[in-house]
Amino acid sequence: MSLPAVDRLPAHLTTPGAKPDLLKAELLDLITRAITNHPRSLQVQIGPSEVGHACPRRIGYKLLGHPENPGEPNWKATVGTAIHAWLEEVMITDNRARYAELADLTRWIVEATVDCGEVLGHPITGHCDLFDRVTGTVVDWKTCGPTQLKKYKAKGPGPQYRTQAHLYGRGWQHRGQDVHHVGVMFLPRNGDLREAYYWSEPYDEQVALDGLQRLEGIALAARHLGPAVLEQLDTADAFCSMCPYYKANSTDVTVGCPGDPGVRRTQPAPALTLIN
Ligand code: SF4
Repeated sequence: MSLPAVDRLPAHLTTPGAKPDLLKAELLDLITRAITNHPRSLQVQIGPSEVGHACPRRIGYKLLGHPENPGEPNWKATVGTAIHAWLEEVMITDNRARYAELADLTRWIVEATVDCGEVLGHPITGHCDLFDRVTGTVVDWKTCGPTQLKKYKAKGPGPQYRTQAHLYGRGWQHRGQDVHHVGVMFLPRNGDLREAYYWSEPYDEQVALDGLQRLEGIALAARHLGPAVLEQLDTADAFCSMCPYYKANSTDVTVGCPGDPGVRRTQPAPALTLIN
């Protein structure tokens, strides 16, 4: 096969022989800036994925608009976002391939905005990964590493993902759909597809309402007490070292959280120096 030649850039725009390390730094900087400026990284309003978070204090920080630690660019989340974009294409292609004759009556609705409810006058809206109009099922994609995948297979999705799925269910109900089931497809980030785990249960609006009610309680307390609420709110062992509000050894939670006491107990005690 003879492919057409590609024009060379003008000489004044090139730096042949530049150091590979410079290009590496430029590429990583580009990726980092793209991650930092992604809408998910800039999201300031609480969304369905956070309503059922195990740690009330973390929710409190978010509601108070507390600044997040700069931290590393979240590469794992970016890999997950890229997989979501690919899956979106897969579902759209299937709509065209198998359901084209149904005109606008496609089977899969992808990345649609849903309104899940309201807390103190603020709408809780989110983007639902997938809704299957044939079976009336909400599906959320989650990509995870091997340890997490094993945990979800053994213990199910946990309250955070379960609440999120039912909130989406409520959102679809608001958009006129009959919602029968909610599900989460856990996909291995670095494994084979056969290791995927699918969790599902019948849709129950009460799960969504319980999540909204819990959030409202925290929001009301935050409104009345301001940052002082942070000391009052329960904590949870929820990957504290990766929490955007974590501050090791903090003695002032209005500045940063030292982590859940249970987590701190598991850290090795500092070495003692004996003075004779
Ligand atoms: S560091 Fe841990 S306990 Fe503190 S807010 Fe974050 S998740 Fe909660």
